[in-house]
Amino acid sequence: VQAVFRSNLSHLLELMGSGKESLIFMKKRTKRLTAQWALAAQRLAQKLGGVQRDQKQILVHIGFLTEESGDVFSPRVLKGGPLGEMVQWADILAALYVLGHGLRITVSLKELQSNLGVPPGRGSCPLTVPLPFDLVYTDYHGLQQMKQHMGLSFKKYRCRIRVIDTFGTEPAYNHEEYATLHGYRTNWGYWNLNPKQFMTMFPHTPDNSFMGFVSEELNETEKQLIKGGKASNMAVVYGKEASIWKGKEKFLSILNKYMEIHGTVYYESQRPPEVPAFVKNHGLLPQPEFQQLLRKAKLFIGFGFPYEGPAPLEAIANGCVFLQSRFSPPHSSLNHEFFRGKPTSREVFSQHPYAENFIGKPHVWTVDYNNSEEFEAAIKAIMRTQVDPYLPYEYTCEGMLERIHAYIQHQPGRLPEVSEPPPGRAQLPSWLPQLPRLGPVSGGGLQCFPAAGAL
Ligand code: UDP
Repeated sequence: VQAVFRSNLSHLLELMGSGKESLIFMKKRTKRLTAQWALAAQRLAQKLGGVQRDQKQILVHIGFLTEESGDVFSPRVLKGGPLGEMVQWADILAALYVLGHGLRITVSLKELQSNLGVPPGRGSCPLTVPLPFDLVYTDYHGLQQMKQHMGLSFKKYRCRIRVIDTFGTEPAYNHEEYATLHGYRTNWGYWNLNPKQFMTMFPHTPDNSFMGFVSEELNETEKQLIKGGKASNMAVVYGKEASIWKGKEKFLSILNKYMEIHGTVYYESQRPPEVPAFVKNHGLLPQPEFQQLLRKAKLFIGFGFPYEGPAPLEAIANGCVFLQSRFSPPHSSLNHEFFRGKPTSREVFSQHPYAENFIGKPHVWTVDYNNSEEFEAAIKAIMRTQVDPYLPYEYTCEGMLERIHAYIQHQPGRLPEVSEPPPGRAQLPSWLPQLPRLGPVSGGGLQCFPAAGAL
């Protein structure tokens, strides 16, 4: 069967089910982006000409939303919990659907079992049952659940699985024997998958595949409108959780000399004590209102956490300058609690390495926050700088559709079994849509992208 582009997403919204806060958040996003997806589908269809695309049967099992994995996120959606993952899953579903594939979506173990053909009430299936899907997208939680419930089929069909894995899994951690011999074992386990089966949020390693997400795109009229309506002295602080403000009094008081500071920190009844009184805190905003705030602001400022989320791209797309701190020494699982135990020892040289390396000035300023003079000088310079809203192609709907199409077309269901771990890193495949050239790089960040530079 041929895959046919779809532009009406109402059936997808039904497939997504209902109930959980996280699903409500995702569905609202999908609905809001429908027109952009439809336009992107039209453009990609034109670009591809009449190329033959097979319709794949695809299971998307969002493991972190299942009760069995604790579903720690849904209750936190309204409190500013990590929305980045939900943004990404909503966009993955939309892209697969718009490309015209057959989709099943599961967010509970029961649904997973029934789709895998595991008889109800049976913990696991001892036999190999044919898998009715060409591809399965899941996360680490889902991978664990599949291993537990698929019996022998897991080994047979694991090559069809794609793992959505924000920060990526390095080959050394994935390869059982290598991990065991060289001390790369973590709680996330070694899965002996092909490292390309792990799909990251940003294109930071050619070893894994780059999945990404989208940010809303503006037309020329909107761009002009935004440029005219900017308040040159308005700053929004990156981060929805109060903890990121702790110990930042010094920067905040410098920033406050020049700009009106806004925050979107979740609170229950009172201002969180970490947020100073001179800050205008809006509380956690619905996504469209957050975008409106960014449209007025001149500066989006990061204080080091969260790492590599979608919000800085949205800010830049809405014409803000993103100011962030350089990490020296770089953060990694070897020296930072957040990364500890993650299956990677990649060194992160700033809060948002993609913004630093692929976008750079004038949109992104990465400075040493330990140096107050450098910090203050950056703020003054930013206030004098004019920038246009900017969204890199790979984060537009068309870019994401093109990329996922390329993976489905060229990286067929059966990837070769585990490849050898380092030394020697993988190359980016030649069929992958090109990424823009790297911007100015500081702090050695380039080491992470040996192949990207060669594009
Ligand atoms: N966001 C929101 N309301 C807010 C602040 C942020 O809906 O008040 C959204 C924002 O549009 C972004 C998402 O939260 O798409 C994730 O943002 P972030 O970069 O902070 O990543 P996270 O840490 O949540 O994964």
